[in-house]
Amino acid sequence: KNFTREEIVTSAKENNVRFLRLMFTDIDGTVKNVEVPISQLTKALNNEMMFDGSSIDGFVRIEESDMFLYPDLGTWLIFPWEIGNGKGSVARLICDIYNADDTPFSGDPRTNLKRALKEMEKMGFKEFNLGPEPEFFLFKLDKNGKPTLELNDNGGYFDFAPTDLGENCRREIVLHLEDLGFEIEASHHETAPGQHEIDWKYADALEACDNIQTFKLIVKTVAREHGLHATFMPKPLEGVSGSGMHFNMSLFNENGNAFYDESDKLGLSKTAYQFLAGIIDHALAYTAICNPTVNSYKRLIPGYEAPVYVAWSARNRSPLIRVPSSRGMSTRFELRSVDPSANPYLALAVLLRSGLDGIKNEMVPAEPIDRNIYRMTTEERHEKGIIDLPSTLHNALKYLGKDEIVKDALGPHIYNSFVTSKKVEWAAYREQVSEWEQEKYMTLY
Ligand code: ADP
Ligand code: GLU
Ligand code: MG
Ligand code: MG
Repeated sequence: KNFTREEIVTSAKENNVRFLRLMFTDIDGTVKNVEVPISQLTKALNNEMMFDGSSIDGFVRIEESDMFLYPDLGTWLIFPWEIGNGKGSVARLICDIYNADDTPFSGDPRTNLKRALKEMEKMGFKEFNLGPEPEFFLFKLDKNGKPTLELNDNGGYFDFAPTDLGENCRREIVLHLEDLGFEIEASHHETAPGQHEIDWKYADALEACDNIQTFKLIVKTVAREHGLHATFMPKPLEGVSGSGMHFNMSLFNENGNAFYDESDKLGLSKTAYQFLAGIIDHALAYTAICNPTVNSYKRLIPGYEAPVYVAWSARNRSPLIRVPSSRGMSTRFELRSVDPSANPYLALAVLLRSGLDGIKNEMVPAEPIDRNIYRMTTEERHEKGIIDLPSTLHNALKYLGKDEIVKDALGPHIYNSFVTSKKVEWAAYREQVSEWEQEKYMTLY
């Protein structure tokens, strides 16, 4: 929906909005916001709100720090909670970041995604759709409001209350999201204790990414009201499933879903196969973006429905890419590696460019693997040409550095900031000596 300036001003008055949050996402994927009293609304709508870019990691140095927030009017939204005692409400606008000279800032992930979408339009497509499936854990807060490692239930996949104590919390999250216009398609307990998933209807790339950021904010806020901490960390506990954020993706042109072709054996078009081949071809390189933390790689291990090998299937859930069975408008690829610590704008930019590269170069994907890959031997996998996803952040960064298409999808500013910050993260992790190591080696040597 696109609001006019007048509609926004009226809506602010009618809903007694007292504060305006101007939101954007930094390179790490964290939502940042500048909150101003509603008296500043006109100034904000005039693209005149300034902030200090040097205070955001990976943005700019002090010397060039004046940056401007250009709100996207389509993102106007009033949060479902009040300030308190009927004192009014808080609204938000998601912004693009501009330099002082009125040019788009190349370090802004949202602006960068727009660049990838332009490339797509040049190739004759209209929309790149994303339906994300974020999973998360609910942990109890202690009496000081700090997150603990204590789960709030022992439920499993699709369990009912009373086992699923998170249900009330999740239900309230869903209600809030629906009030905000999310069309919720599913909401259920996931396989691990304390683990949940909420799915909503797919949307065009930018809106879908904005939705993910809004979703996380709502989940965390509502969980806190229930004395819980919601975490999107990919693998909070060893020995149980981690949290993924599967990406369901499709390309539309003016005739509808460009991935669908009923005459094909699997119902997939030539474009679909080429896009798939591109996604497979660049898989090692974009893993660093889709799985950007040290912890991400603790999830990408065999046995927990998370992918470990680069392959695709129209049937089973062990490979990197699955083709869900629905066809027609719902024809899509599900990329199963992405986890919720990924910056959705960056992830979608690299995935789109990878798929488009497959189309440009008329790539052909390998045969689908319809067996459970976790059960195949190393030799069997080699025979089929199935390679492993990077096993650590360090390896993933090496692959990222070698792929010109994926690097270009990020642009030099984002690529350099990302790699610099991730190398620091890896170096800090390497210094750690874990309990596991102490237990394993202390007495052995
Ligand atoms: P799973 O098969 O893994 O259980 P779900 O049914 O939970 O998947 O999630 C399906 C997701 O795919 C939803 O977000 C849905 O809106 C989305 N989806 C459906 N059609 C498309 C499409 N054409 N393009 C992208 N996403 C789609
Ligand atoms: N939690 C699993 C993962 O880490 C996914 C489970 C599912 O198929 O929904 O990706
Ligand atoms: Mg799931
Ligand atoms: Mg899924």
